[in-house]
Amino acid sequence: MPTGSSQVERVIANGYCIGCGACAAWPNSPFKISMSSVGLYEAVRVSPLSPELGEIIDRLCPFSNGAETEDALANALFPGADQHHPATGRFLAAYAGHVEEGSFRSDGSSGGMGTWLVNELLLTGMADAAVHVVADTTRGADRLFAYTVSTDSAEARRAAKSRYYPVTLVDALEFVRANPRRYVFVGLPCFIKAIRLTARQDPEFAKSVAMCVGLVCGHLKSTGFAECVAWQLGILPGQLYGIDFRKKLPNRPANQYGVEVQGRCDGRVVTKTAPVKQLFGCDWGMGLFKPKACDYCDDVLAETADVSIGDAWLPDYVTDGRGTNILVIRSQSILKLVEAACRSDRLTLRVISGDDVAASQSSGLAHRRQGLACRLSLTDQAGEWRPRKRVAPLSGDPRSPFVRRQQLRTTLRETSHAAFAKAKEGGNLHFFFNQLMPLAERYQDLSRTPLRRIFARFRARVRQFSGYRLR
Ligand SMILES: Cc1cc2nc3c(=O)[nH]c(=O)nc-3n(C[C@H](O)[C@H](O)[C@H](O)COP(=O)(O)OP(=O)(O)OC[C@H]3O[C@@H](n4cnc5c(N)ncnc54)[C@H](O)[C@@H]3O)c2cc1C
Ligand code: SF4
Ligand code: SF4
Repeated sequence: MPTGSSQVERVIANGYCIGCGACAAWPNSPFKISMSSVGLYEAVRVSPLSPELGEIIDRLCPFSNGAETEDALANALFPGADQHHPATGRFLAAYAGHVEEGSFRSDGSSGGMGTWLVNELLLTGMADAAVHVVADTTRGADRLFAYTVSTDSAEARRAAKSRYYPVTLVDALEFVRANPRRYVFVGLPCFIKAIRLTARQDPEFAKSVAMCVGLVCGHLKSTGFAECVAWQLGILPGQLYGIDFRKKLPNRPANQYGVEVQGRCDGRVVTKTAPVKQLFGCDWGMGLFKPKACDYCDDVLAETADVSIGDAWLPDYVTDGRGTNILVIRSQSILKLVEAACRSDRLTLRVISGDDVAASQSSGLAHRRQGLACRLSLTDQAGEWRPRKRVAPLSGDPRSPFVRRQQLRTTLRETSHAAFAKAKEGGNLHFFFNQLMPLAERYQDLSRTPLRRIFARFRARVRQFSGYRLR
């Protein structure tokens, strides 16, 4: 078993690093962040780690067993947040709705609350600057997005939209340390946890954390995801300049969005759009291009953020293609800001319960609760190191579709990275399809109810033997 001497080295050696950059951004750190061969950020140790520094860094990493849990952090941060739900952690209030004013909603991935909140915090002086993710045109086709610092409204609004793409906080954290002001950080749950853990170790840095806006998170993707989608639309890897992962399509429900890519095709710069349903690899349940860390993560709702925002994947809202957010508020100052904006009709929000929030993320939660319990048990049975989680391992019948589906998700994740790297090397996207399609079909088969499985197999047999296509 490849292990290092510190907890963080164990995280890295066993493939659980998410590339957040907290370890590398610590002063005099021997860690650097680099992009792996499969398009994911990861920490690499480039010089010896002293035991003293090792102890501090073990407390900064969101996957280290030396770090505090999300529960411990949230208890310390939000003692006044008196509601609790197993899906959300502590909270004050939860809402579903959207931004009414301006073009926040149409510019955003969902209801526009992400950019509205950042903008509002800057306008009201509750924060001096925002640390969030924008399109990066400076680093070439294999680094399309990066964290940046915005100080005014126009800059802040450039950050709208979800980037299913690897990013790291390392440069931003170093910038914040060198330029102490009050920042609002936007990030995925593990990144927000890394910021909170850093703040616990560094009181000076803590003064710069004015607010944390967390994004609900299903999982992250490697650069391969964007490249694979663009390749299916005729833009080869290395020729992709920009991608909108959440293009709102007219007259379609919110969950039937599209992807828009810009790049070079046959010597011309082109823009192409397609509904995700027509693109292979966009089924989030299948989890292609997913980092290993995401299969060992139990924070879906960014439980350490002052406010978490996501999509309202609920029957009442999903039909509205303009996009609707869920909002889980833990900090009094955010609650006041949002309530005031509702009174002046700048926002339309409806109070929802913790159960409603959980229902809006049922697939992500099932994967990171029951699914995680099963994966933890399988990892333990294999005698492999893994990070400690708030979810307890639970073994299941290895022949059950549920356990086989969890195993297949791991295989799909691993195969997607390896097969896409080979497809790129050989310039042959069909190699990727040929490797993944049989696994994807098996996964779909296991996801069906027993009756549907029998019917699907019957249809396949009829097709095979009679050439007759059943509708
Ligand atoms: C990798 C990923 C997985 C997600 N999974 C889910 C999910 O399973 N369920 C769900 O309900 N919602 C999920 N979301 C959140 C969802 O896609 C929307 O971002 C959210 O609903 C906010 O939409 P909005 O219109 O309010 O925000 P917008 O106005 O579009 O603003 C989005 C904000 O998020 C920031 N941002 C975008 N990408 C990243 C990133 N990679 N890292 C850090 N900050 C980023 C932008 O800089 C901007 O500040 C995910 C987002 C990401 C990036
Ligand atoms: S997850 Fe973050 S803190 Fe942990 S090793 Fe990776 S980059 Fe460092
Ligand atoms: S699933 Fe968890 S580990 Fe993966 S990016 Fe999201 S919050 Fe981080």
